Amino acid sequence: MAAQQVDQHCEVAVVGGGPVGMLLAGELRLHGVDVVVIESKLEVSRQPKAGTYHARAIQTLARRGILRFPLGETDHTKISREPFQFAGYPWLGLRTAAVEGPVMIGLAQADLERALSERAATLGVTIRRGHTVRELHSMTDGVVLTVTDEDGVERSLRANYVVGCDGARSIVRTHGRFETVEYPPTMRAMLGMARLPHPEQLRPGWQQTPRGWTLLNLNRFGSSRIITFEFDGPDADRRKPITAAEFGAAVDRIVGSHVELADLEYTSRFNDFSRLARNYRDGRLFLAGDAAHVHFPLGGQGLNTGLQDAVNLGWKLVAVLRYGAQSALLDTYMAERQPVAAQVVDNTRVQSMLMNPRAEHNSLRAFIGDLLSSPDAHDRVADVINGESLRYPATEDAGQHAGSFFRNLTLDTTDGPITVAELLTAGRSVLLVSAREAAHADTELHHGLIDVVLVERIPEDLPPTVLLRPDGYVAWSGSLRGGAAGLREAVVRWFGAPLPAATRELS
Ligand SMILES: Cc1cc2nc3c(=O)[nH]c(=O)nc-3n(C[C@H](O)[C@H](O)[C@H](O)COP(=O)(O)OP(=O)(O)OC[C@H]3O[C@@H](n4cnc5c(N)ncnc54)[C@H](O)[C@@H]3O)c2cc1C
Repeated sequence: MAAQQVDQHCEVAVVGGGPVGMLLAGELRLHGVDVVVIESKLEVSRQPKAGTYHARAIQTLARRGILRFPLGETDHTKISREPFQFAGYPWLGLRTAAVEGPVMIGLAQADLERALSERAATLGVTIRRGHTVRELHSMTDGVVLTVTDEDGVERSLRANYVVGCDGARSIVRTHGRFETVEYPPTMRAMLGMARLPHPEQLRPGWQQTPRGWTLLNLNRFGSSRIITFEFDGPDADRRKPITAAEFGAAVDRIVGSHVELADLEYTSRFNDFSRLARNYRDGRLFLAGDAAHVHFPLGGQGLNTGLQDAVNLGWKLVAVLRYGAQSALLDTYMAERQPVAAQVVDNTRVQSMLMNPRAEHNSLRAFIGDLLSSPDAHDRVADVINGESLRYPATEDAGQHAGSFFRNLTLDTTDGPITVAELLTAGRSVLLVSAREAAHADTELHHGLIDVVLVERIPEDLPPTVLLRPDGYVAWSGSLRGGAAGLREAVVRWFGAPLPAATRELS
């Protein structure tokens, strides 16, 4: 096939149109960034993968209107709880403030991926399905990607920035100067969808036996999701197709008796191999989602983490590309997100060890089980799993709430009541100023990325002025009575310089 050279330019090329890539592309496009998504697959894969979404990922999607929950709960001191497992054991109760929507939702990854893909297309993202990135060439002022289409025709695309959302085998990671830390697999797991003619033969939910674990999400009216976990070493060939005989034998082996399965489909192998990128940025190249971190898919954390990577990086690229923020702002992406993934890799490795039924792991199991019966330890682990413990590093002068996720309060504004989630839907920063501070609000803070919202009253336990980042975290909080210098500094640091007076009048 003859190679055809067609040079194109875009501001951001997103390699990989999985859920993370599509969400990121939408984030950028909300601000008019010229973004191209390059995705090898012609359509969204129906292979079952993620299905569990936790509080902080749910809140993050709700703050873009991608998930919507009815208003109603206004008592932010009320806590919602949901039982959850750690290493398969029913040790956790996940919690979140009642104003934040559900603690947990079940949603097939394919459905979310399709919704994010449609959203990106609707917003005007250029999506090139059936196109595969083959090479990347970084230069000081941009990156050139070599892309082939489904007919093998080669094109080159030049971008100011490239984000690798291209999953575990990321070409962006392997072509860039990215260091990783890796932990080899110790076990093997198989997933499949099958009918159970005799559902009583397999226990629903998590089942531990001396030979391993099974997980059954039972569907009495159709195909059930079944996962087998065995701890006698990894598969020699993880890509080898799974036959019905192999899958059935593993289920029978673990359960210790025959389980009849029918119509097995959508099989896949996975294990507890972990990889974490030490750096998420190499000049104009970035990594997000599985390209940056892969681990044992336990506790529903991989995609949850990746979605939050996308939202963290999106507005920072916008601030640099559109509002003159310093390129150093982009380093805060790695500083904020890499420790989150490191914690996920650690806790999933611990869970893999705990699930290993061998007797030498009994002491570890007994010790951790006992630890998690203490409320403090329990709450810490539960909040790590669902992201509720996440607070980004912040300097003291940014106020005591800086770095924390702002609660989804319902606020009284001149336009009527509105939730924080609704205020953030457009992906812009929001400066909340309570009525009693209005006289001190400095008009010089006018900024193209910031909506100033006057609110009747901000709850007593919060400062009267709060600057929210587009991802819902507090950039600065305090009072304007002593002057607005601190706030102005925070605006410049996070979003670039405010508009000069002359331009402001035109905007
Ligand atoms: C069995 C299982 C269960 C899981 N359950 C959960 C769960 O409940 N909750 C949770 O949070 N996570 C879960 N995960 C993890 C979750 O599936 C992943 O974290 C998620 O898929 C990562 O999304 P991504 O967009 O980063 O990468 P991917 O989904 O891997 O998407 C990457 C995309 O990049 C494309 N691509 C790759 N290379 C190129 C290239 N060179 N050019 C163009 N395109 C390219 C691929 O075609 C793909 O579409 C589970 C995983 C498994 C295996």
